[in-house]
Amino acid sequence: MTAKKSKLVVTENVEQAYQKYRQLKLEVDDWLRERGSYWLASLSLNEESPYLPIVDLPQDAIIELWQRLNISAKAEIADSTLREMWEQLNLGKTAMDPEMATRLQMAVSGVAKLASQTVNEKGVPEQKYNPRASESPGKNVVVCPVCDEISTLAVLIEPDGKRMMHCTTCNFEWPVQRTGCLFCGSEDSKKLLYLDNEAFPGIEMGVCEVCGQYFKEIDGRRLYAADYFWEDMRTLSLNYATERWIEEQVRKDNQIN
Ligand SMILES: [Zn+2]
Ligand SMILES: [Zn+2]
Repeated sequence: MTAKKSKLVVTENVEQAYQKYRQLKLEVDDWLRERGSYWLASLSLNEESPYLPIVDLPQDAIIELWQRLNISAKAEIADSTLREMWEQLNLGKTAMDPEMATRLQMAVSGVAKLASQTVNEKGVPEQKYNPRASESPGKNVVVCPVCDEISTLAVLIEPDGKRMMHCTTCNFEWPVQRTGCLFCGSEDSKKLLYLDNEAFPGIEMGVCEVCGQYFKEIDGRRLYAADYFWEDMRTLSLNYATERWIEEQVRKDNQIN
């Protein structure tokens, strides 16, 4: 701990949220087992990253899984309505019932997992993931090489704490520089603060004073997580606390100057 501890507001309904999430997650896993190989055959990956951006995922696969999740939540609606909602969303109109939006998000993520699975099976050379942000500032190491979504979750893995980025959308993992800021590539250790909270052992929030951005770092040697998406969700209060901490620092700096 090199900086202040953040004060935490614990969400009471984490358990309830987990039960809902788990039910959907099991449904996604069943779909992947039953329908994964069928849809895998229709995926075509790009030669270069991003190998399969979210926007290029097969719409029919997303609708199929989305509907399956709706049925499981007893909220089935016509496929044609889902297609319309999906098109509206792509046009930037985002008004949707939050539960419906969560199921869509999980459907997109489920289909994206097929892409990351394929990339993992093909084995893409590591250096393509641009391990050092400072060497190529134009290309961001936090952007997933498979689905093109931004990840703010890093994991230190066994045995020696090698740092990997973990994409909470498609599950892909890629190695990144071991130290420094993941956003701007700054290697100045005095400008990278780590915040933690005793309620969340094994998790630190890295805050960069150079670029003002933050990321979550899970030490996989201390904290085993079978599902990093849930681990990230479960600990969202750390993100909020970090954002408040950054705002507070900015406010103090403005008072001094
Ligand atoms: Zn991804
Ligand atoms: Zn930075």
